Parts: sequence; C-alpha cells; structure tokens
Amino acid sequence: MKIILLGAPGCGKGTQAARIVQETKLPHISTGDIFRDNIARKTELGLKVKSVIDGGDLCPDELTIAIVKDRIKEDDCKNGYLLDGFPRNLVQAKALDESDAPDIVIQLFVPFEQLERRLAGRRLCSKCRSSFNTADIGERTDCPKCGGELYIRGDDNVDSVRERLAVYEQQTAPLIDYYGKQGKLVSIDADKTREEVFESVLKVIK
Ligand SMILES: [Zn+2]
Repeated sequence: MKIILLGAPGCGKGTQAARIVQETKLPHISTGDIFRDNIARKTELGLKVKSVIDGGDLCPDELTIAIVKDRIKEDDCKNGYLLDGFPRNLVQAKALDESDAPDIVIQLFVPFEQLERRLAGRRLCSKCRSSFNTADIGERTDCPKCGGELYIRGDDNVDSVRERLAVYEQQTAPLIDYYGKQGKLVSIDADKTREEVFESVLKVIK
C-alpha cells in the first residue's frame, strides 16, 4: 500500500508515522530525515540543501522530487511506502502521480489554534530525542524518560510557529483539494490522544 501522510507542523504526524510503520512494515520515507541525514554526512546533496535552508527557504521542488523518486525506486518500496513530508505542494504531487501515485492520502487534521498551542509548548530531549509538551509535563527542564536536558526548538516561538503554519496552509490546501477530487483523501480528526488517532488511522489502512 502506498500511503501519504499529510498534516501541519504539530499535528502529531511523526508519532503516527512511527506507529503506521510498526504496524505495516512499510518503509517510512521522510524528506526531512533524508535531508537531515545528508546534511549530517555532508554529501553533495546535503551541502546543497543546507545552503538553501540556511537562506531561510524550503528545498526547491526539482531537488526534492528527484530525491523521493530515487528513494521509492529502491527494493524496500516494492510493496509500498509511507511518505511523510512529501508532497508539500501541487507540483510535487503531480510529479509523484507521474511515477508512482499513492493509493491513499491520510490527512491528520488539528485546528489552527490548537497547533499553535502544541508547537509553542513543545520540548525536545537533547539525549533521547523524545518530544514532549508543557501541557503534559509542565515547565520541567529534565526529560521524564531519560533525565536528559530538554530544549525548545529555535523556531518554536509564537511568531515563527504562525509563519510556519501559514506557509503550510497555503501550500497544502491545494493538495487536499487535488487528492479529494481523486477520491483518495481521508481526513482524520487528530485533535485527540495519540491512541485514539492511531485507532482511526488503523481503520483506514486495514
Ligand atoms: Zn530523554
């Protein structure tokens, strides 16, 4: 099964992606992870991507499309994939349809104000990389799991959170429409607990 997972920053997409992969054994293809990995290894691609991101821009479509197309040609994608962070706009979606169209597109929907609250309250562990929210853990600065130090991502302040959500909205709204017309879109109310959201996701992919 070829699945696309859509959702705004802060909607819990990462958590649900991990659960879906565990359940279906599909390869989890996250453009964010591919970029971060290449940047860390200082590959040619990584350097290119880094210079774009450092300039405050998103990776250009041609580059992102090429990376994803390459990746889904690999052997482990024979039975499908879970795409996360791609496509991000209509150009990317159409390019994907030309090569390897998805079977289903799952949108995790959380109201804007709720996302804002979630992102501004996000705390990450510098040691085990777990993600928490002040709504659950309060203002503590040590990781409840491993005791590591918690930190706030540089762009998790209210202004850049609003900016990121606005950009997301502007770019992905056409995708919702596009996949909706193809009859592939399933929208899930993700303003619930992780467990409840995953139950809804499971119903869709089973
Ligand atoms: Zn930790």
